[in-house]
Amino acid sequence: MSEETFVIVGASLTGAKAAETLRAEGFRGRVVLIGEEIERPYERPPLSKGFLLGKEPREKAHVHEADWYDKNDVELRLGTVVTAVERDGHRVRLASGERIGYDRLLLATGASPRRLEVPGSKLQGVHYLRSLADAARLREALAPGGRRVVVAGAGWIGLEAAAAARAHRNDVTIIEPEPTPLYCAVGGEVGEIFASLHRRHGVDLRLDQDVAGFWGAGQVSAVVTSGGAEVPADVVVAGIGVRPNTALAEDAGLEVSDGVLVDAALRTSDPDIFAAGDVANPFNPLLGRRLRVEHWANALNGGPAAARSMLGQEVAYDRVPYFFTDQYELGMEMSGVAAPGDYDRVVFRGDVAALEFMAFWLSEERVVAGMNVNVWDVTEDVQALIRLGGRVDPDRLADPKVPLGDLH
Ligand SMILES: Cc1cc2nc3c(=O)[nH]c(=O)nc-3n(C[C@H](O)[C@H](O)[C@H](O)COP(=O)(O)OP(=O)(O)OC[C@H]3O[C@@H](n4cnc5c(N)ncnc54)[C@H](O)[C@@H]3O)c2cc1C
Repeated sequence: MSEETFVIVGASLTGAKAAETLRAEGFRGRVVLIGEEIERPYERPPLSKGFLLGKEPREKAHVHEADWYDKNDVELRLGTVVTAVERDGHRVRLASGERIGYDRLLLATGASPRRLEVPGSKLQGVHYLRSLADAARLREALAPGGRRVVVAGAGWIGLEAAAAARAHRNDVTIIEPEPTPLYCAVGGEVGEIFASLHRRHGVDLRLDQDVAGFWGAGQVSAVVTSGGAEVPADVVVAGIGVRPNTALAEDAGLEVSDGVLVDAALRTSDPDIFAAGDVANPFNPLLGRRLRVEHWANALNGGPAAARSMLGQEVAYDRVPYFFTDQYELGMEMSGVAAPGDYDRVVFRGDVAALEFMAFWLSEERVVAGMNVNVWDVTEDVQALIRLGGRVDPDRLADPKVPLGDLH
């Protein structure tokens, strides 16, 4: 029997971790990892934190050492765009016209920033933050300090970029259409805490306002809000969410709806094609519904899970979503899903004012999400509460003297 070829499209964290797992599980066939970027696979979280702050070198972000790919016989094709998946012939087509056959294919094409579609959005000085190259450009713009920076969107990326911009001593204004920062991710109760944090650090937070357009001659000079205000700007950072890169899957006739639809084994509607990471919209057996997750841990764990599934192992990808952020003196981890509508009550435990606390989102007295702020080594307990799904006594949950382990 001729050797099998497994092709992975997307050479970022999901793709690199999938390649690593294929080898760790003893796969001896050909592994081809294809990525559009010229940089070998790297992790993105430092791009809006240590790297943007100028505290971490770019090398720290790489997933593997440069020689890892050769040593593990992984064919890394960088600067290479896959333009089509030819399912009938079991081949992918590259921009060069070259075709590579596959026995199993993993789509790990990730997501791309949503673009602002308003007048002036193509002006110089309007930044997005996804790649190392984006981060390097933004760092160059922020590092001198003394600039007027406007951040569009108070989501995770926008807030981290705002914190980095302040650290470089720039004036920062955030424009956000919702009533609090992070409103869609954590609701208003915890969103307020992030609003206070940023205000305390001198950020001018304009809520319930959208970006209506930009002024400038070549270079951006002001942002116009939906309320009609003009905010002077030398630098704009747009962090208004991402869209999954589903074009390949769609063109190939795979089922797509807010991401590539996959089952709990991360298999698409074609049994030889899998998808994981930001691009995948899997059925999560734990939650009993589909959930597309745009977080680091989902790339870290989803890539390996897809690899095992490609090898024919039984896989039920049922991780509790996990996320972390660092902004100023606040470091936090969050597990679960806490969008408005997912919960009916928030319970705090610890000292919110001192930024040393936990927050739990409850639905009918069951924990659906938990966050720990400057409190560490509790993720296992938080995830156990979510996973077990039993009713908890909110008063005991709020009491730091009651060990979390006693609640699940
Ligand atoms: C600035 C920043 C900060 C973040 N911080 C955090 C954080 O603190 N915590 C957290 O949990 N998450 C964070 N995230 C999210 C996390 O980085 C993503 O969830 C993760 O990168 C997803 O990995 P992925 O491999 O699935 O996709 P991606 O990282 O998007 O990689 C997909 C790759 O596929 C390539 N590609 C796409 N189409 C093709 C094609 N047709 N041919 C070839 N290559 C293709 C792309 O160029 C890209 O390199 C952050 C993201 C960013 C951008």
